[in-house]
Amino acid sequence: MLRIRILGGARRVGASGILLDTGKRKILLDYGSTPSKNPDFPLPVSPYEVDAIILSHAHIDHSGAIPLLYKGARGPTLISTPLTIELSDLLINDMIKINGRKLPFTKRELQKMLEHVLPVKYNEPIEIFDNIIVTLRNAGHVPGSASIEIEINGTKIWYTGDINLIETHLLEPADVVKDADVVIIESTYALKDHPDRKMEEKRFVRTVREIVEDGGVALIPAFAVGRAQEVMCILRHHGFDGRVALDGMAQLATSIFLAYPEYLKDYLELKYSVRHAKWMKSKSQRKKILKKPGAVVSPAGMLSGGWAEWYLKQVYDKERDAIIFVSFQVPGTMGHRILTEKRAIIGGKEREIKARVEHFELSSHSGRKELLEIISRLEDPKKIIVVHGEDEAASHFSMELRENHGLDAIAPYIGDIIYID
Ligand SMILES: [Zn+2]
Repeated sequence: MLRIRILGGARRVGASGILLDTGKRKILLDYGSTPSKNPDFPLPVSPYEVDAIILSHAHIDHSGAIPLLYKGARGPTLISTPLTIELSDLLINDMIKINGRKLPFTKRELQKMLEHVLPVKYNEPIEIFDNIIVTLRNAGHVPGSASIEIEINGTKIWYTGDINLIETHLLEPADVVKDADVVIIESTYALKDHPDRKMEEKRFVRTVREIVEDGGVALIPAFAVGRAQEVMCILRHHGFDGRVALDGMAQLATSIFLAYPEYLKDYLELKYSVRHAKWMKSKSQRKKILKKPGAVVSPAGMLSGGWAEWYLKQVYDKERDAIIFVSFQVPGTMGHRILTEKRAIIGGKEREIKARVEHFELSSHSGRKELLEIISRLEDPKKIIVVHGEDEAASHFSMELRENHGLDAIAPYIGDIIYID
């Protein structure tokens, strides 16, 4: 009998972790933290009992706890795409830099993690242990991201990770593993349809253009891995010809993407989109760029650190400037508060945001329609496990799958164990 133990990222977004226990082997699917300054982690597992960890993609909410598995003398094999491994190194390093001694691990564990990697490309099955075959599939979420197909003694489990069925500038839509028996599916947008992508892109570029033509600076906080590059492609694709600056870790992530053209839909589109941007290197350069109208693309995506937080201090009280969010803002983050209340603590003081605040849905997750499409493409799933969504999204979606689709679906809680015959 197979046991699936939910360690984190259930009825919430953040700190994902799922442990598959075959009786003989224990295999982790993702082990992340929350993307905040004082990160939360999934339930602990002993580094000695995990045989392998398979990582869907580099985002910290999926990868940020992995170094904890390398605190002992041994350590599990880390399986992921070569690009995800390189990006995880970048993001976890940054996490260590930001949090310093507050973290329960150091660069030593990260280094050890890198000594245990087994890079695997898409669609190439590998038998990691007797009768356990893993295949990574394109997840359409960020470059290098994978959904995980894992066959254990004939039972096929499919973990979507973060999955996007909508074509973006960076990636082809995700593959669906139709013949899975057990599907562990994300539900970030289970209650919400995305607006039409092309229309939203046009509306976004129109707004940036408006701000710049009125003499303002458009600060676009964006995740370093994926969203920042997608935004650059969107601006170029829709003919934005104003000044664009790219800052922070998004620069390094872009260079890494460009070193793995096989993981990009259109390598040249990304290359040309970032070529004309100004890559910010010094504080004086940053101050200078703010003196003239233009767009600044910078992590962190929710304003919790990174250069975006510095830019915020410069633009928040200027009516002609704008803060333009391009992703979901997790409740509790600075970005969420600015979006909902137009207030934030900046420089230690409570401040009113006078700059224009806008939000565009340029998501790299499936919306409600696409999640339902994934479900409809499944041939004969025996069980659906709904994770990676806020409480309401996960519970509603699983109820809907039970009542309207006749599926055996659940939205587990952290700590739950699901038994598969
Ligand atoms: Zn992600």
